[in-house]
Amino acid sequence: MARLPVMRLGLRTVSTRSVKAVRGDAAARSAKPTLDFYGSAAWKAIRLQVQRECKRTCQRCRKPDTRIYVDHIVELRDGGAPLERSNLIGLCASCHGKKTAEVRQMRAEPC
Ligand SMILES: [Zn+2]
Repeated sequence: MARLPVMRLGLRTVSTRSVKAVRGDAAARSAKPTLDFYGSAAWKAIRLQVQRECKRTCQRCRKPDTRIYVDHIVELRDGGAPLERSNLIGLCASCHGKKTAEVRQMRAEPC
C-alpha cells in the first residue's frame, strides 16, 4: 500500500517580538511629499506675509475676522510656484476646503 504524501504547509509562525514592523506603509502613503516645505522658514515667512495682507478677511468670499489659510492657487503637485506671492491666496476654512475639493475633482476627472 502506497503511503500518502504529506503536504507541508509553507506557513510558519513569526514572533512579533523579534520582527520589526515595516515602517508605516499607511503613514508613508498618506504623508505629503511636501511636508518639509511646509515646515520651512521660507514658507512660514511668506505665509505670514499673506496672512497680514489679508487682514483676517477671506480673499474669495470676503468673510471678515476669520482665520486665514494660505493656499497655493496652482497647487504644488500641479507645478505651482511654492513661494511666489502671485500663486498664494488667503482663504477662510470654508473656501479653502471647497477649493481643495474642486482641485481634487478636476484631477480625478480630466477634461
Ligand atoms: Zn471664504
